[in-house]
Amino acid sequence: MNDFLNFTLESWSPDPDFLAVSATYLGVLLLMGVVGSAIGHQRQRAGAGFVLGVLLGPIGWLLILFLPAAGRKCPACLGVVPHQARRCQHCGEELSVVASNPFRRRVI
Ligand SMILES: [Zn+2]
Repeated sequence: MNDFLNFTLESWSPDPDFLAVSATYLGVLLLMGVVGSAIGHQRQRAGAGFVLGVLLGPIGWLLILFLPAAGRKCPACLGVVPHQARRCQHCGEELSVVASNPFRRRVI
């Protein structure tokens, strides 16, 4: 029987360098995702920012930066709030409720 078929978890002793490189790589991917999520959070797209950051790194950050915001702008502070919001989550300004129509991106 060759070594491949004789593989067990107990016999597996990974190279410490391999583990260090893997942990570093995962850490960098996570960091890319967190930065993308932080950029996307400003535009109500934190999840998309995380995924794009992990998959594409700085290119994903640029993509999320130039994607249209998933919401409307508060007239008082210009922060992006969800379409159905009645009060701005950034400054507390009362917002008029507009019918949500994805084809009609109205900025009030
Ligand atoms: Zn506001």
